[in-house]
Parts: sequence; C-alpha cells; structure tokens
Amino acid sequence: MKTTGADQAASGDDAVHGGRLVTDLLDRTVERYPERTAIDFMGRCWTYGEIGDLVGRAARGLQDAGLKPGDRFGLCLPNCPYFVVLYFAALRAGAIVVNFNPLYTESELTHQIEDSGTRFIAVPDLAMIHDKVENVAKRAGIDRIVLCPMSAMLPWLQGVGFNLFKRKDHARIRDEKLHLRLDALLASDAPPHPVAVKPDDVAVLQYTGGTTGVPKGAMLTHGNLTANSGQMVEHVHAAWPDQGRGDAPQERTLGVLPMFHVFALTTVLNYSVETGTEMVLLPRFEMDQVLGTIRRKPPTQFFGVPTIYVAMNALEESRIPDLSQVRCCISGGAPLPLEVREAFEKRTGARVVEGYGLSETAPIITCNPLQGLIKPNSCGPAFPGTIIEIRDPENPEKLMPQGERGEICARGPQVMKGYWNRPDATEEVFTDGALRTGDIGYVDEDGYVFIVDRIKDVIFCGGYNVYPRVIEDAAYHHPAILEAVAIGIPDDYRGQSPKLFVALREGESLGEDELRAFLAERLSKIELPREFEFRKELPKTMIGKLSKKELVEEERKKLA
Ligand code: AMP
Repeated sequence: MKTTGADQAASGDDAVHGGRLVTDLLDRTVERYPERTAIDFMGRCWTYGEIGDLVGRAARGLQDAGLKPGDRFGLCLPNCPYFVVLYFAALRAGAIVVNFNPLYTESELTHQIEDSGTRFIAVPDLAMIHDKVENVAKRAGIDRIVLCPMSAMLPWLQGVGFNLFKRKDHARIRDEKLHLRLDALLASDAPPHPVAVKPDDVAVLQYTGGTTGVPKGAMLTHGNLTANSGQMVEHVHAAWPDQGRGDAPQERTLGVLPMFHVFALTTVLNYSVETGTEMVLLPRFEMDQVLGTIRRKPPTQFFGVPTIYVAMNALEESRIPDLSQVRCCISGGAPLPLEVREAFEKRTGARVVEGYGLSETAPIITCNPLQGLIKPNSCGPAFPGTIIEIRDPENPEKLMPQGERGEICARGPQVMKGYWNRPDATEEVFTDGALRTGDIGYVDEDGYVFIVDRIKDVIFCGGYNVYPRVIEDAAYHHPAILEAVAIGIPDDYRGQSPKLFVALREGESLGEDELRAFLAERLSKIELPREFEFRKELPKTMIGKLSKKELVEEERKKLA
C-alpha cells in the first residue's frame, strides 16, 4: 500500500523539495522582516535584524578560532537565544551541528562526542552542564568549549520566577585555554568568509536509537531540514490561506520543547524562522512559567509531546489557559491518547492535531489537517511531498494491501542521507530506497495512517502479537488514570505476557481489582495484563516521552 501527500510541485519553488540551505531560511527573513521580534526569552527580545547580525559575527568568530567546513559543532544548550545564534553561525561557517541533550551523563556525552568527532561544543556557564562537559572534553577530543554566559541571567531568570536549575553555582573553569567566550566570539563585525555549502551536505547529526542500543547519528542534510520546514509551511497554508506562504501576519510560537530534539528543531526553530515568527523560548518545562508566559505572550502556535498535554489536562480548572487563539497546535513524538486530546481541546479551546515523525525524517512524515477531518487515533495523512508505504516486515520487498498492517516506510525530501559512519545500519534501514521506520501501522481508504505500535515493543504472548498501545489506550479510558505504559514480561507458559504500569491523577484512587475489571471489558483475555504496578509518576525520556525502556530495564534487573 502506498499513500502520497499533496504534490507541491504546483507551488513553483523547491522549498519542499530540499533545494535550500538552512541559513537561507534566516537570510530571507532577516531581509524581509528585520524589525520583527525573532526571540523573546523571558521578556528580553531580539529582532531578526539583530539575530542576523549576531549570527554573522559568531560565524566569523568561529572561523577565526579555527572552525572549518565539515567540522562537527556541538550544541549542548537548553532553549535560549545562544542556541539560535550558534546553530545558524556554525552552519554559516559550513560546519555540521551535533545536538546534545544538556542533561546527558558523562558517558553519554563521551559516546556522542567521540562517535561524531565533535571538535567545538557550546555550553552554558552553569556548573551542572559545563563541569561534566569539561571533565570529558579533552579525553573525548574536544578542541574548544564555547562558553555561553547564562549564569549572569540566573538572578534575572529567578527574578521572573524561573528556577532554571537546582544548583545555582557558576561553572568551575579549570582549563581557561580550552574555552572560547561568546562575547569574544561576537567582538568582530568583519563578515564571515564565504564557504561552499550544497543542499545535499549534512547540516545536523541527530542522535537517536538510544532506546534500542547504541545511539546513531542520523545525517540530516540542509535539504532534509529545509524541506520539512517548507512542508510545514504548505501544511499550515492548506488550512489557513493567510498563513505560511507570502506576507502572512506574524505568528508567535511557544517554544517549550527543547530545540536539541528534532521535533522542536524543525517546528520551533526552522519553520518559525522561515515564516518570520516570534519564538518565545523557555529553557525548561516548568508549569508556572509556561502559564505565565502564555498570559504574557499568547501563542498562536504550540508544539508539544503528549506528556505536556497530559500535564496541562491535570491543572485545576482555574489555572487552565485559554488557547483558543492557537491556530497550529501539533502533538508528536509519541501516541496521543484520544482522551488526552479531547480533554485538552475541551479545556483550552485549542484544536490539537497529531503528527508522526522520526529523527531520521527531520522529522514530520504525516500529520492530521489543522482544519478538516481528524480521524481518532490516526496520525494523519502523508505530509506534502511524502510517500508512505506499508511493507511486510518479514519480507520488506512486498507491499501490503490497503488496510492491512505492516511496517511503515517513508520516502520524501526530508528522509535522511543515512547514519553517520554506519554504512551497515544505513543499509539495514532502507528498503528499495524507502526508510523503514520500525513502526507497525496501516493506511485506511482515505490515506490516513494509523500507528499500531513499534515492532520492537510488540509482546509475543502465546503465539499472538499483543500491542502494548491497545492496552494503554484502554487504560486511558479510565478517568483516574494519568499515565499508562504496558510492556512484556517473561511468562513460563506463554513466552511473554503484558504488565501494565500506571500513575493516577492527583486525589484519585483505584485498586488493582477494579482496574482489572475495567480493562477486562475492553481487552481480549490475552491482552489483559497479568501484572499491574501503580506508581506516583512514570519515567520519561529527556524530551518527556514516557520511557518504556527504563521500565523494561527495571524488570530485567529484577529478574537477574
Ligand atoms: P525519535 O526519533 O526518538 O523521535 O522517535 C521516533 C519514534 O517515535 C517513531 O518511530 C515512533 O515509534 C514514535 N512516534 C513518533 N510520533 C508518534 C505518534 N504520533 N504516534 C505514535 N508513535 C510516534
């Protein structure tokens, strides 16, 4: 089965076909809207003209410090203006940006620095991030640490009610020569040296696969990233003809998802820059701050992972923000349970649509329309210019008939070039030129894609395939349940059987027998969890997806 997103050839430019550089997105906006506010960071604002100037200075500063085209430049920063400036500056200098999660442990940092061959890395001068980077830097091969002066902002951030990090101390710099201070980088106003960069060159290494093994760097080219941003423009424009293309009125994005994750990199950053949107950046998800920021600067665009919508649904009635002015609200990264979507819409007035993507696809490959038909539990039709194919996971040469389950595969200008230095893994992930997502799903008669589950999460129970998502969806129907994750545990008789972890809403109570009886009405016998575990909260990944891996690991350790 194949389904194709709207063909954008008619739009007459190569925006969705990957013919641009990431820096083109900024240059065009700086030229058209120099006076528009580009960034609001806790009330401090920078215009696009100012950001364009800072990017040029930083690019030249990095070149003067020895950054060469093709060098890997690490960004190990929470959302802040430095992220935006250094991302575009490194790309302008022809370098490849490597995104690091600032909360990585020293061993995770070391693996990613070594695997990518990162030479320069930008970090804030906050002890909890800087010090571990400096600890591993030399050993792992870092030549320069670009120090961003965030600690100076701490009293001010705390003054506006933001507890950025628990430890408030400044970084302890031991090797001054290793460091490059941002203000020194920005000192010269000489223009950057021109470098030859092509749309097919790698722009970003996005590490992924930590849940399944050693993380690999997905090579996202300038073409991949600008295509996905252009596809977003078309997607938004299809719903709101006055938005997206052309001289649209200025939008405002609430940027609370971390930009080191590919979902925010494209939506909060690239797409916002392409459309001259104001990015209201928050360095972390802190509910009081999010609510205060929404009041201060009501967003028109909001991008979140399901746990953010769950957290907002858990607010008391009086604290729920009015988001009825939001015209583009997308959930991605993990399944959005229907009950969560409906409750969020009812409470905030925003229409939230579910999209689907991967680090390997820069990331969006399907999305429900912002106006028009949303199908429950579907992650929508193929994105503009994208082809979704359903293939037999056992025999990937074979396309499955329409409506039948198989592995979701994708083709399009946003699909990565391959994995960095991993020809074997690259070969495995492509079938006849289409990217294998590792997700099971099907396409209905209208071209809507439904994800059933990840192939690797399927529970093999007595000869049957049990999909954890079916169990989780059933659990979410219970009003007391806030979070639910099902995994397979060893079973002497059936091979594996399901275990369900749940967290309850505050003030709610629910016993195991009651939950079992509730689920028994909705699930087959084989799907009914054999074990239940109630927790105050379930573990999350660094961007806030519920972490199945951590629970599987805990079970494995218990058995060992
Ligand atoms: P990552 O590359 O780490 O962002 O993870 C990509 C994976 O997240 C996909 O392969 C899916 O398994 C999952 N995913 C992303 N969006 C959705 C969605 N809307 N529904 C279900 N799973 C999703």
